[in-house]
Amino acid sequence: MRKKIVAGNWKMNKTLQEGLALSKELKELLENKTINCEVVVGTPYIHLSEVAKVVEGSKIHVAAQNCANKESGAYTGEISASMVASTGADHVILGHSERRAYYNETAELLKEKVELALSNKLIPIFCVGEVLEERESEKHFDVVAKQLKDSLFELSKEDFAKIVVAYEPVWAIGTGKTASADQAQEMHAFIRKTLADKFGEEIADNTSILYGGSCNAGNAKELFSNPDVDGGLIGGASLEADKFLPIIEAFN
Ligand code: PEP
Repeated sequence: MRKKIVAGNWKMNKTLQEGLALSKELKELLENKTINCEVVVGTPYIHLSEVAKVVEGSKIHVAAQNCANKESGAYTGEISASMVASTGADHVILGHSERRAYYNETAELLKEKVELALSNKLIPIFCVGEVLEERESEKHFDVVAKQLKDSLFELSKEDFAKIVVAYEPVWAIGTGKTASADQAQEMHAFIRKTLADKFGEEIADNTSILYGGSCNAGNAKELFSNPDVDGGLIGGASLEADKFLPIIEAFN
């Protein structure tokens, strides 16, 4: 059975103190609740180890938002997958459209990052998604298939089975425009079929595919009720506990 997951992506927000306060609040809010999904918070690098300590023993997992494509060495300013893992984080968001667009992350680079994440026992949350122009010209399925193929299709079945995929239409990220439940389901089903053709039905069935793009308390339930939508990757609405909690509770 694939996991239901609600993952927050704080992006470049929150000082260390603010991030710790948010993690504590979330941990306390979740303490006495029955929740039916895994919860992940994707924090800036410098927060990882402190946040991991705060949430230790709780239902919350910690993710980095990136990692280097090199193991170690003279790469000033970079953070390796083994460093991320040493903080207590157990996930890493890779291929986010902001990294692809603003930092020129290519499919080849992401392939290297995914491999290093896996070899350091981090679970990659691998993001794919089309820009508006690609959707309007009906290239969105081809674009997403290529993103999957170019960065993930050389993985063994065993390694691919550890990946979480996040479909994030770029036109919906931070814009307040959400994919409709039908658009999300259509793409998620396509992704699952693409994965089944490559890795087999069983692995595709067990892969969690999250939706991301202006997901919030008001639309999460409808989006998550689709058979192929296994949760969400949440940006803006993960920055306040009282906005993030109802998204987690959308699975109740
Ligand atoms: C994201 O950055 O992954 C995201 C989905 O952002 P938002 O929820 O703010 O659209």
